[in-house]
Amino acid sequence: MEKPVEWPNGARMAFMLSFDVDGESLWLALDPENARRPKVLSLGTYGPLRGMPRILDLLEEFSIKATFFYPGYTAEKYPEGVREASKRGHEIAFHGYLHENFGNLDEKKQREIFNKTTKILEDITGLKVKGFRTPAGDLTKDTLKLMEEFGFTYSSSMRGDDRPYQIQIDGRKTNLVELPAHWELDDFPYFGFNFTPPVPHGQCRISPTDVPFKIFTEEFKGYYKYGLMYVIMFHPQVIGKPGRMLFLRNFLEFVKTYPDVWFARGEDIAGHYAQRYF
Ligand code: ZN
Repeated sequence: MEKPVEWPNGARMAFMLSFDVDGESLWLALDPENARRPKVLSLGTYGPLRGMPRILDLLEEFSIKATFFYPGYTAEKYPEGVREASKRGHEIAFHGYLHENFGNLDEKKQREIFNKTTKILEDITGLKVKGFRTPAGDLTKDTLKLMEEFGFTYSSSMRGDDRPYQIQIDGRKTNLVELPAHWELDDFPYFGFNFTPPVPHGQCRISPTDVPFKIFTEEFKGYYKYGLMYVIMFHPQVIGKPGRMLFLRNFLEFVKTYPDVWFARGEDIAGHYAQRYF
């Protein structure tokens, strides 16, 4: 029998709205040659420049606090978005420096990135960074140890559950919580697109909004029934487009029709889970 997670104040499920503000870093990490392709880079620019202000205003309207995962590079280049989001009570969390694949980096390099990006984010917000989301590819045991060392409380990177869980390293229980996410609850597989270099490789994408709307809402109904933690990932560079902002609005309106949903930032869910279950 599935044992439901206990959420605060008798809530039925947790809802974590998250945004990965990748900016140009995603494209630079995909292919370093993109550094000399201004048109490709400008796909990334759209996120912090045009998407972020729209998203922040929408969240204000719905009174929802979200988590924004920032690569240090993007935060350095567009600090106003970080500052404004933090000022409005959203969480700013760690997403590498240049959208690196932590699975391919040794401990020394990973440590450099942890040092650099946490300093950038903390200097802007004045708040301690608590959350980690692996930017591209994977992560290693060193990544988990660095999260502990840097005083993070959670990761939102894995795919193997739809509830939070306590992270272990070689059988040792850590103080870290994992808040798993899922590809079907990510806007990029539906909307992320470029011709040259091709993303996705086989081409053929740019979904109409009704497809992810159907998937996101059907999944939501399932999460609600089972009392789980719904973690949804958006990228300001693709969701921040005018028509898709209407889609995001419709989606949040749909979610708001359900009672007893706990809207929470990553750090709040991790804090609750650690306190209740560790
Ligand atoms: Zn990202």
